[in-house]
Amino acid sequence: MNDTKQIAELLSLPKEVCIISHRNPDGDAIGSSLALAGLLRKQNHTVHIIMPSEYPDVFGFLKGIDDVLIYDLEPEEAKSRIERSNVIMCLDFNSLERIDKVGRIVKDTDSTIVMIDHHIDPEPFYTHGISITEVSSTAELIYNYIKETSTEHLIDLEIGEAIMTGILTDTGSFRHNTNKNTYYAAGDLKARGVDDYYLQDKIFNSMTEKQLRLLGHCLNNRMELLPEYRTGIISLSLQDYEDFDIIRGDTEGIVNYMLMVKQVDVAIFVRQQAKIIKFSFRSKGDISVQALARDHFNGGGHKNASGGYMYGSVGKAVRKIKEHLPDYVPVYNQK
Ligand code: 5GP
Ligand code: MN
Repeated sequence: MNDTKQIAELLSLPKEVCIISHRNPDGDAIGSSLALAGLLRKQNHTVHIIMPSEYPDVFGFLKGIDDVLIYDLEPEEAKSRIERSNVIMCLDFNSLERIDKVGRIVKDTDSTIVMIDHHIDPEPFYTHGISITEVSSTAELIYNYIKETSTEHLIDLEIGEAIMTGILTDTGSFRHNTNKNTYYAAGDLKARGVDDYYLQDKIFNSMTEKQLRLLGHCLNNRMELLPEYRTGIISLSLQDYEDFDIIRGDTEGIVNYMLMVKQVDVAIFVRQQAKIIKFSFRSKGDISVQALARDHFNGGGHKNASGGYMYGSVGKAVRKIKEHLPDYVPVYNQK
């Protein structure tokens, strides 16, 4: 679905716009939001960006990020900004559950709701939407929106870096989810002065010593391989969280390392949080972790990258994974 025309029409006169992205925002949530905010401000809209929870420190270098309002830190201010807006733009998520309590506020407003997203199975909470699962990232969708509305001349370095950040992070530096337009977009942004080397260095070479040691701990002490299902599982307990003083962002990307093992096609990262057990799922090729996450773990996302949650213990979570895995890993893969 691509309501670009209707959205451009809606935004043809200056509006009060709130851009909202999902909890635990990643590079694409942040990059697409900053890029759209930059564009809309140049078109004389008043724009606020709201995220339910804090963003990882690694993205602190992006210009404009200081203006992002975090609902967890300033709930009243965030609520009043959403209620005052005429247009709410929901970026990089497709179900209100992904924005926690902010979802209720969005539901209760009379504002026009626009969704721009690339995940599978959107819920119909919006007035106009761009929902395309074949693109690399929501940032690429923002790039396409700019192209389709002939507003390329408004792309400045800030917007360009924000889009490139979303593309780089959601494709794992062009390793997955790319299509030919992803490369055109990246090439065009580079031609416009975006320094991809600088961005990659800022984003991917910025681990703390603690994060690298935590990665070592996960791989050495917390990883279980299930060769019969070509699957790897890493699970972290609350004790691990205490021992390593793990905070938001520290576990980002750990799940992907398991896919480096030749015999692994499915990688699952399980961690105990205060109230829930949270899952990250990754897969290669035809195996759909989206189906597994959707059917059994209250989640979803993309075919090869999904998330979810459940209530219970880490042990119960791992047992549940082992119970359902056989239904999602095709027999031809069990070699
Ligand atoms: P990650 O494992 O990096 O947190 O998330 C991978 C993908 O799954 C992302 O596209 C993210 O939007 C999606 N995802 C993560 N957690 C959830 C969840 O609880 N519910 C749904 N529907 N999607 C999720
Ligand atoms: Mn995304």
